[in-house]
Amino acid sequence: MTTSDHATGTTPTGPATGDVAKSDEQWRAELSPQRYAILRQAATEPPFTGAYTYSKETGTYRCGGCGAALFTSDTKYDSGSGWPSFTEPAVADAVELIEDRSHGMIRTEVRCARCGGHLGHVFDDGPGPTGQRYCMNSLALDLDTH
Ligand code: FE
Repeated sequence: MTTSDHATGTTPTGPATGDVAKSDEQWRAELSPQRYAILRQAATEPPFTGAYTYSKETGTYRCGGCGAALFTSDTKYDSGSGWPSFTEPAVADAVELIEDRSHGMIRTEVRCARCGGHLGHVFDDGPGPTGQRYCMNSLALDLDTH
């Protein structure tokens, strides 16, 4: 006798654009409540509270959700904003930029291109040749020192 016990295939409800698509339940189970709030609910950590605000350690800043390489310490600078700030991503297509009209402002949201996780926002008042300031949440990142 053969028992057919295959689970019905289900499609995760995560963002469709990236390589990593997980259900909300999976993200909630994997991430700390603080990380879940930022990465999956677009919350913002209070300024001057994050582990990487003033960090000058060298390395690669990876996505706290999926581990994708997003920023390098070479482009990090002290913006005075209270959040870790970068002039550009490690590679342009590591992040997705999305218009954000929440909170009565028009801003550009930055998400991880692989998992869709919310990282922060990008503004046009940066110091580099591109004039960009990638204003990130420390909790959305993991510094991989090298
Ligand atoms: Fe990610």
